[in-house]
Amino acid sequence: MNGLDLLGPGQRGLYIGGSWREAEGGGRLEVIDPADGSVLTDVADGTVNDAVDALDAAVEAQAAWARTPPRERGEILRTAFSLITDRADQFAHLMSLEMGKTVAEARGEVTYGAEFFRWFSEEAVRIHGRWMQAPAGGSRLLTIKKPVGPCLFITPWNFPLAMGTRKIGPAVAAGCTMVVKPASQTPLTMLALAALLEEAGLPAGVLNVVTTSLHSEFSETLQSDDRLRKVSFTGSTGVGRILVRQSAEQLQRLSMELGGNAPFLVFEDADVDAAVDGAMIAKMRNMGEACTAANRFLVHRSVAQEFGEKLGKRMSGLTVGRGQDDGVDVGPLIDERAVESVSQLVTDAVHDGATVVCGGQAPTGPGYFYPPTVLLDVPPESEINVQEVFGPVAPITVFDTEEEAIRRANDTEYGLASYAYTRDLSRTIRLAEALEFGMVGINSGLISNPAAPFGGVKASGFGREGGFEGIEEYLETTYVALPAG
Ligand code: NAD
Repeated sequence: MNGLDLLGPGQRGLYIGGSWREAEGGGRLEVIDPADGSVLTDVADGTVNDAVDALDAAVEAQAAWARTPPRERGEILRTAFSLITDRADQFAHLMSLEMGKTVAEARGEVTYGAEFFRWFSEEAVRIHGRWMQAPAGGSRLLTIKKPVGPCLFITPWNFPLAMGTRKIGPAVAAGCTMVVKPASQTPLTMLALAALLEEAGLPAGVLNVVTTSLHSEFSETLQSDDRLRKVSFTGSTGVGRILVRQSAEQLQRLSMELGGNAPFLVFEDADVDAAVDGAMIAKMRNMGEACTAANRFLVHRSVAQEFGEKLGKRMSGLTVGRGQDDGVDVGPLIDERAVESVSQLVTDAVHDGATVVCGGQAPTGPGYFYPPTVLLDVPPESEINVQEVFGPVAPITVFDTEEEAIRRANDTEYGLASYAYTRDLSRTIRLAEALEFGMVGINSGLISNPAAPFGGVKASGFGREGGFEGIEEYLETTYVALPAG
């Protein structure tokens, strides 16, 4: 099994209006295996006209979809949840192939990603408004919720399934139609998901998938169209800013899930072994290619050496290799550029005075590998503490006081995830209130949960995915004034 069997004949094409078809002009886009740089397969390379066709289909399907009973919309998602769960191994293999992560890691993403469909299948039937008497008496105020309308979803390569389901799930539940553009590096999982949703009974035109090598032309064309009502994007802050600017003309609703630069604080009263366990998850989930990945380890001077040595021992015990091979813990990064960027940040940190505890050197040979790396005594101003690393590197910087730790943690343009290890309850409350991040993990290295609102502040964007908040991103409010008899 390699997961490619999830895609039937013709399903490496575009999925528009319930049909699979070639791109205009027949262009193809190669999908590369990051473990050796070879071509895995290819998919349709959609054009701007294909994008407009997809939006046409979404617009045409919108009114009927909005009228479909919530229970029906929810049941389609529930069926899709079961189908993904039944085919977890195939989805895991497919993601491992196109993205590089290990099959075990990919299985975790399948569970997480599918759960958004189950959660929003349950939310579809709980969309509700309000009824109240006007304060001065007389009229009655009725508040109703309606789907926003046709949406554009642009997703990244690092979680090819989950970054799709957490947008598609609430949109389907709310009664919105959509055009999805997956990352050009990892289009296969999204195509397999489209085929599965069709099988689950999603009507033609509700979901349209356009795989393409186009970036700005694609988003500019769709965002200039007044029929598109919402854009939800997960990716880098730079691209997020472009999409926000492009939304100005048509004033589209936006959800922006952008980059992160998560601090991981270890205080002098922490259980250091538990902190090392948490660090392994927060750092090494998805090889560090996660927006929630712990990027800056801020450790109290009294435990920094112990924490660094224990983390180094665990990190250097990991086996790097092809994600589909048994016994491998860490797969390749997504591409050559990613390896170069991580290598440069590590070289600069060492130049700035950091000590290498383990790793620190990309291997030669095929594939885009980088070893798990721990750096001790990294100066706070080193570039690795400023930029998002997006790789398996843990830079450790020491602090002396809680006030200093909080100040350093907040000293970033980003505000997505943060982590802290302490056994002091009062400090926990102070941290939760003082950390300028959308998410705070206390004594926990894993914070993502479909039942909780995921999202950031500052340059990490705005909007929330998951939780009770997730569906609100896809609903508009209409207020109706009613005279009272
Ligand atoms: P990216 O911004 O380069 O690309 C994301 C997507 O945007 C891809 O589909 C890409 O093809 C598309 N894209 C790029 N330029 C575009 C344009 N001008 N118009 C339309 N689409 C365009 O990001 P990436 O390298 O794929 O992903 C890594 C980034 O994503 C990291 O910064 C990471 O932190 C962030 N991320 C954030 C979250 C979150 O929830 N906050 C989750 C995962 C990843």
